[in-house]
Amino acid sequence: MTTQDDCLFCKIVRGEVPAEIVREGERTIAFRDINPQAPTHVLVIPREHYADAGAAAETDTGLLDAIVREARAVAEDEGVAESGYRLVFNTGSGAGQTVFHLHGHLLGGRGLNWPPG
Ligand code: 5GP
Repeated sequence: MTTQDDCLFCKIVRGEVPAEIVREGERTIAFRDINPQAPTHVLVIPREHYADAGAAAETDTGLLDAIVREARAVAEDEGVAESGYRLVFNTGSGAGQTVFHLHGHLLGGRGLNWPPG
């Protein structure tokens, strides 16, 4: 498995940086965002390092499916699956990505406007 020494989310995967983990899968972990933008704001990340969703899609068949499945399971655990939730992959700094380890933002528990800002 590939991790990067200086990547914040790889450090969370390795247990070197604390996080409130809500679910662990074979290939993924899910933990609460440190700066939540909704009552439920959980990040679902692969254990393996990919810079973003596009990079994973190019080389790792099935990983994005696993992330989406885990996000749905977390939404169910959190009680937001029925009312609706949003799964966002910010991809590139122009789209607001600040941590370059693939992560899906699961947002729910409040009304969500469209389009996002
Ligand atoms: P991005 O802006 O890259 O799409 O999302 C990165 C997310 O990671 C942000 O929502 C930010 O609040 C969250 N984040 C940054 N540092 C930490 C941290 O140390 N712990 C946790 N749990 N979340 C973090």
